[in-house]
Amino acid sequence: MSAWPDRQGGAVTLIGALFIILPMQFTQPTTRYSMWNMEGSRLPAVGIDYPGTFEEFDDWFSSEEACLDYVARLRWPDGFCCPNCGNSTDKPWLMRRGLYLCRKCKRQTSVTAGTLFHRTHKPLRTWFLAIWFVTSQKHGANALGLQRVLGLGSYHTAWNWLHKLRRAMVRPGREQLTGSVEVDETYVGGIGKKTRGRGAKRKSIVAIAAEIRGRGPGRIRLSIIPDVSSASLHEFVTTHVVPGAEINTDGWAGYNGLNRLGYEHIVTNISASGDPAHVVMPRVHLVASLLDRWWLGIHQGAIRRSHLAYYLDEFTFRFNRRKSKTRGLLFYRLMEQAVDCAPVSLAIIASDRPQHLVAG
Ligand SMILES: [Zn+2]
Repeated sequence: MSAWPDRQGGAVTLIGALFIILPMQFTQPTTRYSMWNMEGSRLPAVGIDYPGTFEEFDDWFSSEEACLDYVARLRWPDGFCCPNCGNSTDKPWLMRRGLYLCRKCKRQTSVTAGTLFHRTHKPLRTWFLAIWFVTSQKHGANALGLQRVLGLGSYHTAWNWLHKLRRAMVRPGREQLTGSVEVDETYVGGIGKKTRGRGAKRKSIVAIAAEIRGRGPGRIRLSIIPDVSSASLHEFVTTHVVPGAEINTDGWAGYNGLNRLGYEHIVTNISASGDPAHVVMPRVHLVASLLDRWWLGIHQGAIRRSHLAYYLDEFTFRFNRRKSKTRGLLFYRLMEQAVDCAPVSLAIIASDRPQHLVAG
């Protein structure tokens, strides 16, 4: 027995501009959107859990109702569960689209309450389009591009939306890195070489951890750190890398003592080894140079220091999913996280003291 209302199939509508702009990948014909056949921890599948192409996207999310149903499905994959009393055995009453009434405690629950879409004045479909747009751009979207594609009235709205989405890119309690990991720092926000001293004053210091997976990097974590002291570097490592892992660093004194924290610390003294940094620490070096290029490219280096953490989250989200076969899967992952994350007020986004609770 499904605890869900049925979705009516909608007519296919095309949004001309978006249709042309978005890159389309035609895959094999997929089954008709079948809504409630997601079981347990099965890996999400294209055509079943998320659309693979923009054509499919347009078909699946042709109405506000379809979007609401999709949010409900992501939020309660096993059927509605009342957030007030925990009742999940009785089917809820459907008061109207997107509003359920628990039979047990009689409390009403909005499908979008507690998600990124809470109390939005714009149609959910526009949000879905924004998420599709953001995840289908290989190097990320900027506010001007988003404004144009969605036909948003103001640049400011587009900018705020992008920031809300960046927040959704951080998943609270994300897993720590494992195995062998390279750790180093880089400097963002100024031109120049790494100077672990007074020269770095005007730049933000970003710590990088990259798993060693074959010749390339596996998953990465990035975080702004206040300085390169051992207190800051140790905290970064213990937050992002599982105890017992192997940590590879250069000979900077700030990394001393990782052994005492339960890591296997391997130090390669770069000046003594005679090899340049990109040979000794190729993965973090690669990440640092991609970050640099990304920063100077899409954002023209114009990121307020107070917002840098969110851009790093976007970079990390994209980097760690760079091998995803379909853009649709990225859409799905960001949707999942958008449904999972608390709404953020514009006041907080605009603030100079961002409430960035989960670093990197
Ligand atoms: Zn209840």
